[in-house]
Amino acid sequence: MLLKDKVALITGSASGIGKEIAVEYARQGAKVVIADLALEAAKATAEEIVKEGGTAMAVAMNVTDETQVDKGVADAVNTYGGLDIMISNAGIQIISPVAELSLENWRKMLAIHLDGAFLTTRAAMKAMIKQGRGGSIIYMGSVHSHLASPLKAPYVTAKHGLLGLAKTVAKEGAKDKIRTNVICPGFVRTPLVEKQIPEQAKEFGISEEDVIKKIMLKDTVDGEFTTTQDVAQTAVFLAAFPTNALTGQSVVVSHGWHMQ
Ligand code: NAD
Repeated sequence: MLLKDKVALITGSASGIGKEIAVEYARQGAKVVIADLALEAAKATAEEIVKEGGTAMAVAMNVTDETQVDKGVADAVNTYGGLDIMISNAGIQIISPVAELSLENWRKMLAIHLDGAFLTTRAAMKAMIKQGRGGSIIYMGSVHSHLASPLKAPYVTAKHGLLGLAKTVAKEGAKDKIRTNVICPGFVRTPLVEKQIPEQAKEFGISEEDVIKKIMLKDTVDGEFTTTQDVAQTAVFLAAFPTNALTGQSVVVSHGWHMQ
């Protein structure tokens, strides 16, 4: 068990990548806080983990809401006696050409991905500094933290922004043994991606099969999707890493799509 008795709060962990990380962390011995906008789904995930013999609780958290973020982190600390790992993972996708993108959707995307990362980081850092035992902060970036695709301007902008936040927090957090890294997955078949396949087919006027083959997996080494388990294993490795040697970095998990 690589994360025995560590306390981990994961945002957006009622579904997809975040859920798989939560389940895997619990298997590795962590006490897991499922923080999500979708409270019922978060409770169901926590119940699944408890049934498997793990320790988990659900908290209602909209990551764009300062009060809810601070309260969720405080609940985690009060219930499990501290916070060792915070994963800023909650996210959505909105597909649109820049020329047709509304200011409302631009702001919504930056609020969830960047305000959310900032608010959860600030709350986690305060808790980690106070408890004095360090910690690991992990951001869910994307291959789109390093390159761009059409129709995804706010997503690409926000995912690039996470690299800047992670590097800054790595510098500020080092003296308190707070490490921070960004995981950059390729395409993973979660609800977020399933929704995009027909949307992109419509925007580009091609079949859904071609969206997968000619857009999503075109530049991988083997035409394979990345899996939630691939990302979860990376999140275990980064959280369990013992020293500041691995901080301020981004790890691309993508079947070779964008080699750094
Ligand atoms: P998903 O849709 O399966 O899960 C996202 C979760 O975030 C949901 O449970 C949702 O309720 C929650 N959420 C949404 N808005 C929220 C908010 N304001 N506050 C709290 N929770 C909120 O998506 P996923 O594919 O698992 O994506 C998770 C993260 O991984 C996102 O940041 C996404 O950008 C990133 N990512 C996904 C892929 C992919 O291919 N699926 C690739 C690279 C990066």
